Amino acid sequence: MQATEEIWINGEFVPWGQARTHVLAHTLHYGAGAFEGVRAYRTAEGTAIFRLDAHLDRLFYSAASIRMPMRFGRDALRAASVGLVRRNRLEEGYLRPIAFFGYGVMCVSPEQAPVDVVIACWPWGAYLPHEMVDLKISRYPRIPPDATVADAKLTGNYLNGILAVNEIRGTKYHEVLLLDVGGHVAEGSGENVFFVMGGQLHTPRLGAILPGITRATVMRIARDEGIGVVERDIRPEEAFGADEAFFTGTAAEVTPIRSIDDRVIGGGEVGPVTRRLRKLYLDVVHGAEPRYREFLTPVE
Ligand code: PMP
Repeated sequence: MQATEEIWINGEFVPWGQARTHVLAHTLHYGAGAFEGVRAYRTAEGTAIFRLDAHLDRLFYSAASIRMPMRFGRDALRAASVGLVRRNRLEEGYLRPIAFFGYGVMCVSPEQAPVDVVIACWPWGAYLPHEMVDLKISRYPRIPPDATVADAKLTGNYLNGILAVNEIRGTKYHEVLLLDVGGHVAEGSGENVFFVMGGQLHTPRLGAILPGITRATVMRIARDEGIGVVERDIRPEEAFGADEAFFTGTAAEVTPIRSIDDRVIGGGEVGPVTRRLRKLYLDVVHGAEPRYREFLTPVE
């Protein structure tokens, strides 16, 4: 991780090295934190944060799902994000807002715990630094929607993904694919998944997955391009027979999938639909597609 100069904590910009919390902070022990992963990109008119409002919407949804009172409103967090990227002179990179229960009480209920809100940013390149990725289906199912708030971006939910990626350590696989408890394809540990079948996109319906902002962006771009999108239950055997497959995520952007459980998808190369959508997505985030300007929050 590459440090920048400052981190925003509870309304103040603090030097990176002094951005500390207490070891008895509630969220460190019980895993109830709401967070986001956001990217900023270089555009022709300077750096812009991509889909900041959609990320803030999801952050407030995640916080509300654990009855966490947010100390700061949307305008304050938008201004803090923009100010932080500018003060750190970050041209391109990643932002990590997080709201967590801090120090003061030690019991499961966070009711009496204070809430701390932090935003950090730093330069960050490709999350899955491979031209294509090979996936292993995890033996851990994706947390069922009713067991926690599975569609919120909560720190504790990531234990599910950590267990899954621990299984592929030291193997040739680059990432995992989790199925839902019904055995349908759900998502990666930090990505949503799409399959190209007969020229259309097929992707798991909402329910057992994180409603990805990149997923929504790619669906919008595809439909605008006249490519149909179907959200449905997808069995792994159907996925193996897809013409193409790719992951989406803020960090992963659009990452083509080569194989799942050693079954090569399509011809094992980046397919034409994936290639086209990946290029369009990268054009959109870099401000080269005027139709999607509304997605960009300039920092200057
Ligand atoms: N699923 C999971 C489990 C994730 O952690 C992420 C990354 N936030 C995604 C999907 C993709 O979501 P987004 O496109 O909003 O980054």
